[in-house]
Amino acid sequence: MNTASRPQILLLFLFAVAAAGFLLYDRTVSSAPIHEMRGGTMGTSYSIKLVDLPSTLPLEQLSKDVTALLHRLDREQMSTYAADSELSRLNAGPVGEDIVLSAEMTQVISLALDVTGLTDGAFDVTVGPLVNRWGFGPEDRRADRIPSKDEIAALLARVGSHHIALDAQRNTLRKNADIYIDLSGIAKGYAVDKVADYLESLGIQNYFIEIGGELRIRGYKPGNVSWVPAIEKPVDTAPQVHNIFYARGESIAVAGSGDYRNYFEEDGVHYSHEIDPQTGKPVTNNLAGVYVIDQTAARADALATAFMVMGAESGFALAESQGLAVYFITRDEERGVFVDRHTSRFDHYLQSGE
Ligand code: ADP
Ligand code: MG
Repeated sequence: MNTASRPQILLLFLFAVAAAGFLLYDRTVSSAPIHEMRGGTMGTSYSIKLVDLPSTLPLEQLSKDVTALLHRLDREQMSTYAADSELSRLNAGPVGEDIVLSAEMTQVISLALDVTGLTDGAFDVTVGPLVNRWGFGPEDRRADRIPSKDEIAALLARVGSHHIALDAQRNTLRKNADIYIDLSGIAKGYAVDKVADYLESLGIQNYFIEIGGELRIRGYKPGNVSWVPAIEKPVDTAPQVHNIFYARGESIAVAGSGDYRNYFEEDGVHYSHEIDPQTGKPVTNNLAGVYVIDQTAARADALATAFMVMGAESGFALAESQGLAVYFITRDEERGVFVDRHTSRFDHYLQSGE
């Protein structure tokens, strides 16, 4: 049983389904309009809010450009659901030969490898064979959804970023084993950054960009009012506000990961879509959701996934030692409550400053 349940997700099944995420907490009413673009991409939805438009470009054209950009990043480049995407061709491509990549693919894999290094392998895009075997990828779900120990061991032999040799100068990648890359844990964030770059190139400085719960925010709403993103309560029912924080005009990226939207249960065990590349199994710690504020949405996205894998204790220790702004929500099963904890860097964003 898969409990992911957002309607648009069923229609747009290109990437992994449903995301832990953010809502926009609207406390203020302003008469000035906010221009909005909405649509579907990467197996989820996107929403872009702009306060002012460039005089040279009507909203309709802007919207077309954004749609084309997202289509390219998703369908043509980073989707494992499209058999002819650049990533699918890379995954099917030869072992031991240099494969030429697009600039975007080089960049996203390079960013992914940085986070793999930083998190000691908790985030690893080569975890794809296991994501697929556990039924969270593009392959049809099997009746025996839980793999045997031997199957896991065989798949783990194909997992590990040491099997990738990326040459970021020449835009080439050499696979040293029959690996399968899954970018679902970073591609949405990367796409948010690309949309932000595009808007910035047009001189737009007040915006809210959201793809499947990964955000980039800059500037203010009309009337100099701060964007107020809300952390979603980690439950699989309709979105509810768990806590809010304040961007205060700063340019920030925010990403969340959780175990409560994309999972299945069998014999009373909860199997979520975050896979531990060490064990080859879905994570089983008590972390329900984790939220990262960082400079880029790609890094925030990947880090959020990594912290889900690491769990609250070692995740918190790493986040604090790296000076990262991270908010952890754990489940206290005995008391039936959520327990929140955030790093000192996150404090800044919990103060309204008003
Ligand atoms: P969400 O869709 O909730 O934003 P994430 O950003 O955490 O989720 O990405 C989860 C997806 O990343 C999984 O569905 C899977 O495709 C992939 N994934 C799972 N485990 C890992 C991992 N350890 N490292 C990298 N990617 C992973
Ligand atoms: Mg992620």
